[in-house]
Amino acid sequence: MISIKKNFSLKNYNTFGLDQRCSEFIEYDDVAELQSFIKDGNISGKRLFQLGSGSNILLCDDFDGTMMHSQIKGIEIVYEDAEFVDVKVGAGEIMDDFIAWSVENGYCGAENLSIIPGTVGASAVQNVGAYGVEAKDIIKEVEMIKIEDGSIHVAPNEELHFGYRLSRFKEDWKDKFIVTHVTYRLKKEPDFKLSYGGLAKELEGKEINLKSIRETIISIRNNKLPEVGKVGSAGSFFKNPIVSRSIYDEICRRESADESVIVPKYDISENEVKIPAGWMIERCGWKGQSHNGAGVWHKQALILVNNGNAKSSDIIELANTIQVDVWSRFGIKIEPEVIYINNL
Ligand SMILES: Cc1cc2nc3c(=O)[nH]c(=O)nc-3n(C[C@H](O)[C@H](O)[C@H](O)COP(=O)(O)OP(=O)(O)OC[C@H]3O[C@@H](n4cnc5c(N)ncnc54)[C@H](O)[C@@H]3O)c2cc1C
Repeated sequence: MISIKKNFSLKNYNTFGLDQRCSEFIEYDDVAELQSFIKDGNISGKRLFQLGSGSNILLCDDFDGTMMHSQIKGIEIVYEDAEFVDVKVGAGEIMDDFIAWSVENGYCGAENLSIIPGTVGASAVQNVGAYGVEAKDIIKEVEMIKIEDGSIHVAPNEELHFGYRLSRFKEDWKDKFIVTHVTYRLKKEPDFKLSYGGLAKELEGKEINLKSIRETIISIRNNKLPEVGKVGSAGSFFKNPIVSRSIYDEICRRESADESVIVPKYDISENEVKIPAGWMIERCGWKGQSHNGAGVWHKQALILVNNGNAKSSDIIELANTIQVDVWSRFGIKIEPEVIYINNL
């Protein structure tokens, strides 16, 4: 079924909980129906945004356009052999429902992504990642509809140009396709990734299996991150910047002048490192601070939150001020990971 609503409130469709509206909200749950709808010209010429759970967006204003929201469901095994299982999942499924299913069925690969908010469709667009695993590591192929003519396309992993929170859907395929299904390839035998973010330490003394890994990750995340539905946020607000080693060394010299501070980093290549933006924001004194209705999460400075009554302008102003402060102190421009949706 395709449902169309006009002047629709998006308050329950963005995890910041901002009460912005869109001119039109279209919900669909069937690929063939959506194809006919498109071929009949129902969305041509319209300003569109493909909306999942709205957990990585900032609605800067009322959206003067059409939000399209997938309710395409289904988790189906489409291939298996002794080693692998390929699971085709509807883009409108909640990613964590699929992960819970995979753990329940003993399939390995998705468990480190447990309770990342959002939909299966967005997992491919965003290349979501946590605890040393990214969606690209388990995505086999993505099925999509071309917005221009309603035709169906299937792209294998290597055509999707995955990067850090990046895919082709954010570059040359931006606004060209609607993701309808993602096929993940999972392993039948254990192949756990435990070396990231203190996971191995948290698992010490426990039996290591898919269930215990999932439970441990859920517990770590629940202790550290704002709970969706209770505290408005969009997760990490900024991307972690990649800088040259000479810039990193210079920052180390400056930051450890009066105390023995170790500037955190992840090695990217021989010449480049990634510095956690949250660490820099914290060094600028922002952790736990507020600005009008918006604030910086007290347990993780990379997360901006809605303290309850924030307007989008409060969050934008706070983000801008933090960017300026980080620039002034470190000479590094931090870029939002969150997608700003405005009418420009
Ligand atoms: C508390 C919290 C913690 C988080 N932790 C993490 C984390 O650990 N790792 C991480 O990577 N992210 C994290 N995020 C960010 C967020 O969960 C992911 O970016 C997620 O993939 C967004 O899914 P969504 O369905 O809400 O997508 P939306 O925010 O609605 O949209 C995101 C993008 O996907 C596109 N899109 C959505 N559906 C489709 C479709 N069917 N077809 C085409 N394009 C589509 C949208 O157009 C948009 O460009 C966190 C967010 C929150 C609130």
